[in-house]
Amino acid sequence: MFTKILIANRGEIACRVIKTARRLGIKTVAVYSDADTGARHVAMADEAVHIGGSAARESYLVVDKILDATRRTGAQAIHPGYGFLSENAGFADACARAGVVFIGPPPSAIRAMGSKSEAKKIMEKAKVPLVPGYHGDDQSPDLLAKEAERIGFPVLIKASAGGGGKGMRVVETAEKFKDALEGAKREAKASFADDHVLVEKYLSRPRHIEIQVFADSHGGCVYLFERDCSIQRRHQKVIEEAPAPNMDPARRKQMGEAAVAAAKAIGYVGAGTVEFIANQDGSFYFMEMNTRLQVEHPVTEAITGLDLVREQIRVAEGHGLTLRQEDVQFRGHAIECRINAEDPRTFAPSPGLVKGYHAPGGMNVRVDSGLYAGYKVPPYYDSMIAKLIVYGTTREGALRRLRRALEEYVIEGMKTTIPLHQALLSDPDFLSGDYTIKWLEEWLARED
Ligand code: ADP
Repeated sequence: MFTKILIANRGEIACRVIKTARRLGIKTVAVYSDADTGARHVAMADEAVHIGGSAARESYLVVDKILDATRRTGAQAIHPGYGFLSENAGFADACARAGVVFIGPPPSAIRAMGSKSEAKKIMEKAKVPLVPGYHGDDQSPDLLAKEAERIGFPVLIKASAGGGGKGMRVVETAEKFKDALEGAKREAKASFADDHVLVEKYLSRPRHIEIQVFADSHGGCVYLFERDCSIQRRHQKVIEEAPAPNMDPARRKQMGEAAVAAAKAIGYVGAGTVEFIANQDGSFYFMEMNTRLQVEHPVTEAITGLDLVREQIRVAEGHGLTLRQEDVQFRGHAIECRINAEDPRTFAPSPGLVKGYHAPGGMNVRVDSGLYAGYKVPPYYDSMIAKLIVYGTTREGALRRLRRALEEYVIEGMKTTIPLHQALLSDPDFLSGDYTIKWLEEWLARED
């Protein structure tokens, strides 16, 4: 049993992990950069270690500094949160060498899913459905163009090492292929130092539906249902909900079983997410697997009643899952809004001093955030400053509660995306759950 863990992260997720650890009687160690001296996670933890400069590459991304802080404080395990080192297999290896438990999957599973092309090869073998496409090693432009022709336009070029929507290009016609390929490769090289790409069929009106899976180190693996993350801007999630609106139970079971097969194919352990792209006709395809806790995990917690961080810690301690698939149930409906320090129209970042702050509360309203009045949101990190999660016994009830909670939320001193969420709540398509991954961008274009 762990008595002390270090959280190699900051912001809302560091605070969220600390809360569960404290409930379990585990002491916590925070790490922080220059910019985060006054951050909430530092105040909340039992101990805090300064690890360097404000830029993440001088602090949160430096493996040796994290391990050094772990040694100095005697923490037995590290929770990486999401982002930063959470999907860095080299970091997971270094933890093992240092005799510290990495609260996450084995490095081999992180590596297997680190390349979208390699992941697709593994999934093909495990008979998980894939978007028709090409994910081979031959990268010659002529061959890729030929493959695009075979797949049929429109196609999507994706960086194998990609993430956050970078290195992706939609190509409508054969004439535009080579230019787009160059652009995607250039962006991939700049962002990931790796210009390997894959090409797949571009689906025009799909939904993004992902399955939460959980595996232990004894071969147990269950799925904890789906989240619909179709409300996106520039391939980044804005609102997530669970369950997916209008999901039919047979499809849920098929997707859940496919996700478990995916996890088992790579010897997965811990919390993971298998992302699918789903068509209206019921077909669905594997996109990628995220080998960490996701930003949107609270909606799954709300409908299942499970604390996923507690389960992560238990599994990392070597315990088997107490749940069998037949025991996992869900009830009601949960919605999460990502609240960013950004202009709600232009999406320009708007960090700065929080002059006034009031977070909504009450029954079935959860706010995960590190904000407080007097806190200065630093410009160095992701602009997401809070997540508002509501639960209702029905989707309608959750939407009503969301409207009330958004009205109650006060963040003074900076622009936030709260007004965007409020505007979406009066759109009939959003209210009926009738949207695809294209929907928000089309909506924004109309509102402009
Ligand atoms: P990243 O790792 O950069 O986030 P993903 O492969 O997860 O990239 O894709 C990001 C988003 O791009 C998805 O959520 C979906 O909205 C869109 N997308 C991905 N693949 C396709 C596809 N084949 N057709 C249409 N849209 C897609």
